[in-house]
Amino acid sequence: MNSFKGKVVWITGSSTGIGRAIALAFAEHEASVVVHGNSNIKQAEVTKKMVEEKGVSALLVAGDVTDRESVSKMVAEIQEHFGRLDVLINNAGTMVTRSKIEDLEEEDWRNIIDINLHSVFHVTQASLPLLKSQKEASIINMSSLAARNGGGGGAVAYASAKGAVSTFTRGLAKELVDDNIRVNGIAPGIISTPFHDRYTSTDVREKMAGQVPLGREGTPEEVAGAALYLASSLASYVTGEIIEVNGGLLMD
Ligand code: NAD
Repeated sequence: MNSFKGKVVWITGSSTGIGRAIALAFAEHEASVVVHGNSNIKQAEVTKKMVEEKGVSALLVAGDVTDRESVSKMVAEIQEHFGRLDVLINNAGTMVTRSKIEDLEEEDWRNIIDINLHSVFHVTQASLPLLKSQKEASIINMSSLAARNGGGGGAVAYASAKGAVSTFTRGLAKELVDDNIRVNGIAPGIISTPFHDRYTSTDVREKMAGQVPLGREGTPEEVAGAALYLASSLASYVTGEIIEVNGGLLMD
């Protein structure tokens, strides 16, 4: 894997879980890392410290990715601090709640679409001037297995948002070819993070893990490997692709 020395990588939602693992993976490959946190700022500070311990520079930006003003401020901070952005990883997202569609409050529907889909639009749009000013750049969007299989119980809204993230990824990949910006996605299956600690019971997790051909949940680090690959020159001919990291749970 090549070095990302001199490159700046922004990972939204990097206070915990997959985002933190991606931040550390890029730090290990010598990138300067923009860590992002919102409600869990203490954990984002921990991620920043872990990144710095790997000998690279880090910037912590804080804000709600569903809020355009907040997103613009974070991009301005990145511009002021590093003066460039080479890789944007739209990772922030969450389930919000599990509920059958007939019981789902409209407010929850809107929140789920906001945090998982509108956030990707806001952050991408605000970051494009910085990304375009590089000779080459890359965007990676965190989709989900749910985008293809409709999600687990009570996750129709979340799965719909992630399905749209995958479609956004393919459409944007076409739109940005002339700017030399590759746009790809990652669709994790069941990964051990605070996400499932919050939204999935232990017995359901055990049952799901038992259905995975590789026989277990994945780790955040195993998702980070796909992000490193997609952002690297090893993937210079890859755009509009969604890499499935699901232990074989859903095969094409
Ligand atoms: P996580 O809860 O550890 O991380 C989610 C991150 O998103 C957190 O850092 C959180 O602060 C951030 N976030 C949530 N709402 C936000 C907001 N309004 N503004 C800013 N930040 C916000 O969970 P994770 O599993 O690491 O999830 C990371 C991504 O991976 C998410 O997009 C999730 O949908 C996706 N994903 C996870 C799994 C899994 O099995 N864990 C599977 C498929 C997809």
